[in-house]
Amino acid sequence: MFPPPRSLPLLLPRLCRSLHLPEHASLALLSSFGASTQRGAPAATKGEAGDVARGLLERSPGCDLVVKAQILAGGRGKGEFMSSGLQGGVHVLRTACEVEKFAARMIGDRLVTAQTGPEGALVPAVLVNEGVDIVEEYYLAILMDRGLEAPCIVCSPRGGVNIEEVAASSPGDILTVPLDVHAGPTDEDVFLVSRKLGLPTPALRLQLREQIRSLYRAFSALDINPLALCASPSSSSPTTLVCVDAKLDFDDNAAFRQARVFSLRDEGAANPRELRAGKAGLSYVQLGGGVGCMVNGAGLAMATMDMIEMSGGEAANFLDVGGGASKEAVVEAFKILTSDPKVRAILVNIFGGIMKCDVIAAGLVAAHREVGLEVPLVVRLEGTNVEEGRAILSGSGLPIIAGTDLDDASAKAVAAAAAA
Ligand code: GDP
Ligand code: MG
Repeated sequence: MFPPPRSLPLLLPRLCRSLHLPEHASLALLSSFGASTQRGAPAATKGEAGDVARGLLERSPGCDLVVKAQILAGGRGKGEFMSSGLQGGVHVLRTACEVEKFAARMIGDRLVTAQTGPEGALVPAVLVNEGVDIVEEYYLAILMDRGLEAPCIVCSPRGGVNIEEVAASSPGDILTVPLDVHAGPTDEDVFLVSRKLGLPTPALRLQLREQIRSLYRAFSALDINPLALCASPSSSSPTTLVCVDAKLDFDDNAAFRQARVFSLRDEGAANPRELRAGKAGLSYVQLGGGVGCMVNGAGLAMATMDMIEMSGGEAANFLDVGGGASKEAVVEAFKILTSDPKVRAILVNIFGGIMKCDVIAAGLVAAHREVGLEVPLVVRLEGTNVEEGRAILSGSGLPIIAGTDLDDASAKAVAAAAAA
């Protein structure tokens, strides 16, 4: 048995891509499936936030106004803004003027929460909602449980707190109800959930049924997976259940069926090089080192990253150009790699199987010329027509460094990056 690649733990969570929608888009989707949500709208400027607030006050004079930072991470309520030091990414306010003030302090700053890491997340917009009078907060999620091979409702009467902590410290406060994927949530399932949440009145239990049915319709129609979660408060008068917070994740494998949902992707929040690679059909993950790599095949890409590390360097990225890497794909890959200022050398490691080495070499030479590559380029080719491929590289007159095997090529790339 070979040991698994050392790069695997680093890459696995990054390669399993999913679309995370910001809260305002998640709530709008849930609402379109009949779930009860607060009235409100997103705002990207202080002025827009004031306009939304005034509109809400016109409809419901005297209502509370909630301003919420729109980042793709939870724990915002307890977060802290990096530059301004403002405490909390969620604020309950009274006037449009206050909403403008808070929006101005939040938009453009970075919010640090337990889920963002110390670098925080840039706040591109806020959501301004009509506040609800919260009496209790609950937690409810619908997700696919691979172990049970079924969609499940996961719920807890302890909403508004970090659910992972509840699961760790008092697992008894969390209930998992497996669902029949075709039938969806039955009355009995709803009964189990409402008992766990401790809903005090029949009217609330009826509302819970409607909310759960709406959430399940959204979950199955939109391929929401692995996670759909929503905390629901109840307010005393009128007694209603409302989704006050939502987080929807969509598996990228569902992208072809869910064009409308995927068009909502918040491009500003994603890594621009990863987005560009995605559009060119390249599988790319941004990492932090100085050796850019271009490889065909995910396994070979990970082996290459490991070899770079073993040679004392660090990979700048994972990049799988795929089996049939065309010249256009190689040009685009070079452009993406060289747009990263950290990349000081590039290592190309291609196994010519379906694609022959001479075709790949010709593509590399053409791409090198077209991009005007300025960083050192080390190439290791192996496979069909390898001799012809090497001859094309050495005859090109370009400063391409040939690697005889992967050890040699990695050592040369790491040395070239260190010298640059
Ligand atoms: P999170 O901190 O990222 O989970 O963001 P939430 O949307 O859950 O908001 C944080 C907290 O703010 C919630 O747990 C509620 O206690 C509170 N909150 C959110 N919306 C409202 C609202 O409309 N009215 C009131 N009174 N509090 C709210
Ligand atoms: Mg919350």
